[in-house]
Amino acid sequence: MTDPFALDDRDAAPPPAGPSPEALLAGLNPQQAEAVRATEGPVLVLSGAGTGKTRVLTARLAYLLAGGFAQPWQCLAVTFTNRAAREMRERVTAMIGDEAASVALGTFHALGARMLRRDGERIGLSRDFTILDADDQLRLVKQVAAGMDLDPKRWPPQAILAVIQRWKDRGVPPERVGADPGAEYAAGRAVALYRAYQAELARLAACDFGDLLLKCLELFQAAPDVLERYQRRFRYILVDEYQDTNVAQSLWLKALAMGHRNLCCVGDDDQSIYSWRGAEVGNILRFSHDFPGARIIRLETNYRSTGHILAAAAHLISRNADRLGKTLRPASGEAGEKVKVRAVWTGDDEARAVVEEAEALQRRGVPLAEIAILVRAGYQTRAFEERLMSTGVPYRVVGGPRFYERQEIRDAVAYLRLIRQPADDLAFERIVNLPRRGIGGATVDQVRAAARAAGAPMSRAAARMIEQNALPARARGALSRFLSDLEGWRALAAGADPRTLLSEVLEAAGYLEMWRQDKSPDAPGRVENLKELIAALDEFADLAEFLEYVSLVMENQTGDDADRLSVMTLHAAKGLEFDHIFLPGWEDGVFPNQRALDETGAKGLEEERRLAHVGLTRARKGVVITFAAARRIYGQWQNNMPSRFLDDLPEAHIERISESGIGGYAAPRAGAQRAEDAPFGGAGGDESGYKRGDRIFHDKFGYGEIRAVDGNKLDIAFDKAGLKKVMARFVAPA
Ligand code: ATP
Ligand code: MG
Repeated sequence: MTDPFALDDRDAAPPPAGPSPEALLAGLNPQQAEAVRATEGPVLVLSGAGTGKTRVLTARLAYLLAGGFAQPWQCLAVTFTNRAAREMRERVTAMIGDEAASVALGTFHALGARMLRRDGERIGLSRDFTILDADDQLRLVKQVAAGMDLDPKRWPPQAILAVIQRWKDRGVPPERVGADPGAEYAAGRAVALYRAYQAELARLAACDFGDLLLKCLELFQAAPDVLERYQRRFRYILVDEYQDTNVAQSLWLKALAMGHRNLCCVGDDDQSIYSWRGAEVGNILRFSHDFPGARIIRLETNYRSTGHILAAAAHLISRNADRLGKTLRPASGEAGEKVKVRAVWTGDDEARAVVEEAEALQRRGVPLAEIAILVRAGYQTRAFEERLMSTGVPYRVVGGPRFYERQEIRDAVAYLRLIRQPADDLAFERIVNLPRRGIGGATVDQVRAAARAAGAPMSRAAARMIEQNALPARARGALSRFLSDLEGWRALAAGADPRTLLSEVLEAAGYLEMWRQDKSPDAPGRVENLKELIAALDEFADLAEFLEYVSLVMENQTGDDADRLSVMTLHAAKGLEFDHIFLPGWEDGVFPNQRALDETGAKGLEEERRLAHVGLTRARKGVVITFAAARRIYGQWQNNMPSRFLDDLPEAHIERISESGIGGYAAPRAGAQRAEDAPFGGAGGDESGYKRGDRIFHDKFGYGEIRAVDGNKLDIAFDKAGLKKVMARFVAPA
C-alpha cells in the first residue's frame, strides 16, 4: 500500500477511466444522493440508525475518486474502528478499483500515529516511538506516582490515569491545564503527575493513545508549515460516527479541514455512547457553529430493520429528554417479528435459552455469522462462551480477551519492541529476567535508579554499570550476556524478515523453551499462541509495520472466514448489523449498569438508554431480549429486577415469554410500584422466614431441604438437583 502521507502533493491528474461517478449513485435515495453530490463545503449528515450514513460516506469517497475531484491520497477518511476502516476500503475498491489503496483511511489513532511517524521529529519525537497500551500506561503511572511518594491506596494509579486521559481527550497538555477541577486530585499534585508522566514518555520515546492526537495538535502549532502541507493535501475529509469524537479529535479535524473546508461528517446523537471516554456529543450539535454555512442533510428511511424492531427502538429512545429527535421510517412495509422479551431464572438458564434459540435459527438456515449476542459488560460473555463451547457452536468473541493482550504474546512483542527501540524501558523491565537469567529485582532497581539519575534508557545505564564494575559479578555477567544478545538480535533484525527474527529470538532467548518446560495446564496453549504469532508475522514487510499493527489494531485477526456466531459488547457493535440479535442481561444493575443508577441526574441513564437503542437497531429481522431473576456476578448471587428499559418498550411491538413460575412479569410494572410488580418482589434483604431443616419446593429443582439460611439466601440440598444456593422467594414450603 502506498503511504498517502509520504506522497508528494501533486495536482489532481485527469479523472481515471473507471465507472461514471453518477453510476455510483444508483440505488441511493434522493437525500443520500444529495449528500454524495454535495462535495464542496462542510456537510453534516445527521440521521438515525440504519439510514445509510456509512453507505453514503463510502459512496462519497468512491464518487470523489471516480469523478476526478481528488487523487486518492488527497482524501482523508476516519472510521471508529480498524475493522470499519478495512470494510470501507474493501467496498470502495469494489466500486472503483485498486486506487482506493492509497486513500488515507483509518481510525483517529492510526492516522495520528502515521502523521507523527512522518513529522513527529519536528517536536522532538523519535521516528521509532513506541505506542503504549493500557497496561504499560498503568505501570508507568504507578512508577511516576511512587516517585512522588503518593499513597496508591488513597490515589489509585487507575484514577490518576483517568484524570490525565481526560485532559488528553480535551486536547490539553500539562502546561495548559489551568484551573481545572481535576487539578485538585492527588492533593493538588495532578498536574505535576501529568507533567512527570509526559516526561517519562519522552524519556522512553513512547506515546500513549491520547498522545497520538495530542502530539499532532502540538505539531500543528509548533510547525505551521507541516499543518499547511496537510491542509493543502487533504482536499476532502470524511468522518463516520461523528457523535463519538472527543475534543482533541475534533480540534484535529478542524485544523486539517481549514484548508479546503470540504469536511463531511455523519453521525447520530442517539448513538452517542462513549462519553465515558471523553466523547462530546456537543461536537455534533456545534457543527454549524464551527463550520459556518454547513449544509445539514437528514436521512429518514431506515433500510436495516423490520417494522416492529424499529418501532420498539424509536419508542425506547423517545424516553430520553436530551436529544434532537428525528423521523425514521422503515424502508419496507414489512412489520416482521415482534421483539421477544424472555424471562428466565438464572444466568445459566439465560445462556442455555439463548444458545438453544441460536441453534434453532441455524437449523432454519440462518448463517451463524448473521447472529450476534450483545452484552453490556465483558464479564457477561463467559456464560455464553461456556455454553457455546459445550454445545459446539462455532463462535468468536469480538474485542474480547484479545490475542495481543495475552501474557506470552506481550512478552514476545516486548522482545521485538526492545530490539527496535533500545529506549523502551517498559519492554526492558518486562523481559530482562524472562526467562530467568539471574538478574534479580535488586539489580533491576539499581539499573532503574542509575537510568533515572542519568536521564538515559535502562539498557544504556546497564551497559555503563557493567563497564564501571558497579554490580556484583554474577549480575554483571548475566546482564552483560543479555545486552550482547540484544545487540546480536538488532543486527539480525537489519537483515532478516520479522518471522525469522522472532522465531530465532524466542529460541535463542530460551523463552519458548521456558513454556515447553512449564508444567502448568495452560503452558501448551501458550506455546501454540506463540507459534501462531510467529506465523502471523509473515504478513508484515518489516518489524516497524508489525509493531504499529500490534499497538493500534489489537483486534482478533478476522483472517478466518468460518461461519461463526459473534459475542461482543454493545459498545463494540456500533455501526454493525446482523439478522438476529440477542440482548441478554436486561436487569437493573446490569443494564442499565449500577453506576448509572446510583448517579444523581439522568445523564448516565440516558447514555445507557442510547446503548440499548444501539443494541436494538443492530438487528435486521429478529431481537430477543432476556433477563434473569438471579445471577452470579463475580461469584456472588444477586437477585435482580427486570431492567427499567423494558418499561420503555411499547406493548404493541413486543412479545413476552417466560419460564413457568416467573409469573408476575406478564404485566408491565409502573415505576412507583417497582418492588411489588417485579417477578420476585424487591431485592431488599428481608428475612426469609425459613429455617434450617425446613422442607421446601422449587419450581425447577423440585423438593429439597434447607441446610443454611443467610438473610434471604438459602442453601438447599435438593433431592434430585443437589446442593444449590437459591433466593428464598423462589421456593415455597413443601
Ligand atoms: P448506523 O447508524 O447503525 O451506523 P448507518 O446510518 O450507517 O447505520 P448503514 O450501515 O450505512 O446505516 O446502512 C444500513 C443498511 O441499509 C445497510 O445494510 C445498507 O446497505 C442499507 N442501505 C442503505 N441505504 C440503502 C438504500 N438506498 N437502498 C437499500 N439499502 C440501503
Ligand atoms: Mg454507520
